[in-house]
Amino acid sequence: MHDLDKLVNVVFSGLSPLVVKDVADEGEWIQARARTPDRPVACPGCGTETTRVHGYHERSVADVPVDARRVLVVVRIRRLVCPTRGCRQTFREQLPGVLERYQRRTPRMASQIGAVVRELAGRASERVMSAPAVRLSRHTALRILLRLALPKRRVPECWGWTTSPCVGAATTPPC
Ligand SMILES: [Zn+2]
Repeated sequence: MHDLDKLVNVVFSGLSPLVVKDVADEGEWIQARARTPDRPVACPGCGTETTRVHGYHERSVADVPVDARRVLVVVRIRRLVCPTRGCRQTFREQLPGVLERYQRRTPRMASQIGAVVRELAGRASERVMSAPAVRLSRHTALRILLRLALPKRRVPECWGWTTSPCVGAATTPPC
């Protein structure tokens, strides 16, 4: 392995399921071009593995910043042909953990943003995230906030009040 490949693997370790082909300096941002590995993929319909390519297309996702600059990853993805007669004809390969369906950010990027918006929500997240070179609108911050799973909390028991039901902590302090 070349020293340059080693460096790319260290800096873009979160993209290890992909084959990084090229990294370009685009000034304010860094663009990494990658492709999926050539290994067989199981058809989501019947489970038969295939490597028969029907076509390619590209997806672009934002990844965590490098060198205080935004990172855009352009990935070439395969559309594969299922060999089973009567099954679906083609399907697009998925890369869980790197590319999530309909998402424009890598999961690790979404997780970092999630940690901030959980504390700060909309406008404040937009301001704070711009410091580590993460472009984020307050609308996106709120969308991410609404997608976060709620923490599981114990439901408080209400006892000692026999005449009126417990409606809210402000008006019924013993709950
Ligand atoms: Zn199939």
